Amino acid sequence: MTLFGGIEAGGTKFVCAIGTGPDDLRNEIRFPTTTPAETIGQAVAYFKEQAANEPLDAIGIASFGPVDPDPKSATWGYITTTPKPHWHNTEFATVLQRELNVPVGFDTDVNGAALGENRWGAAQWLDNFIYLTIGTGIGGGAVVNGQLVHGLLHPEMGHFLLPPRDDDPSPDGFCPYHGHCFEGMANGPAIEKRWGQKAETLAEDHPAWELEAHYLAVGLENLICVYSPQRIIMGGGVMEQKQVFPMLRQKVIELLNGYVQSPAILEEIDRYIVPPGLGNKAGILGAIALAQRQAGV
Ligand code: ADP
Ligand code: ZN
Repeated sequence: MTLFGGIEAGGTKFVCAIGTGPDDLRNEIRFPTTTPAETIGQAVAYFKEQAANEPLDAIGIASFGPVDPDPKSATWGYITTTPKPHWHNTEFATVLQRELNVPVGFDTDVNGAALGENRWGAAQWLDNFIYLTIGTGIGGGAVVNGQLVHGLLHPEMGHFLLPPRDDDPSPDGFCPYHGHCFEGMANGPAIEKRWGQKAETLAEDHPAWELEAHYLAVGLENLICVYSPQRIIMGGGVMEQKQVFPMLRQKVIELLNGYVQSPAILEEIDRYIVPPGLGNKAGILGAIALAQRQAGV
């Protein structure tokens, strides 16, 4: 029998589980992200306990970033330049490897989620697609020709610049690095700062959502032009606002303005811009998928 462990390592919480896929995901635990010693220590203790019952073939880590996902690098498996206190240059994957003595797959949270959606979710049988999360941050994972895109480091889809709209009450945006980048205009905290209340407390028909749909549509227009994805999966807390999807789809069509001539966009946009097929399990199943990939499954 094969069994895999997964860590969805978020900036606010860690989720750990074992299993082999959506129909077999077990013993999930969650704990807050505090210091690396404490939080990674809790993950190690959890997997030692699990492995004592049933051996693990591999562990996958889908982590907040930036991370070093390059297996040839001396700092592979590290969380690198994060502004998150305590976590700058943190050794991560190699700790699990040493302590559990199993192969460890390691990538960004969104690359993990993209891989999981590819195996079991809304991107099955697709070779080119994007998984985006709109939450505390904005991040994206791209699969191109069947492979996750890495490169110099990994894509930072939340940080391309986009123009503020004339009627935006906070046109400067909120990214500490870029002001009005995609994340600085459209993540959950940007909505909260712009309107003075938490995104999840804004009424469904608040003007915030039309402006949000606009920024998301500008972001997607750029991504469609660059990656030519066959589908875009939109996860994260902000996309719990289901009323945003129809506005977003309509605005993407308007912004593309007929230039990208594909029936997938012009006729079937409801199937083109979609929520995750794995729902709120996209993150942890992404970690399991990274473990399986590492084990060659
Ligand atoms: P994280 O990105 O930290 O993993 P989330 O994807 O839940 O977690 O993102 C959290 C952000 O999303 C916060 O800014 C929060 O205000 C916002 N958010 C969470 N749930 C909702 C919701 N139902 N509607 C709108 N915004 C939400
Ligand atoms: Zn930015």
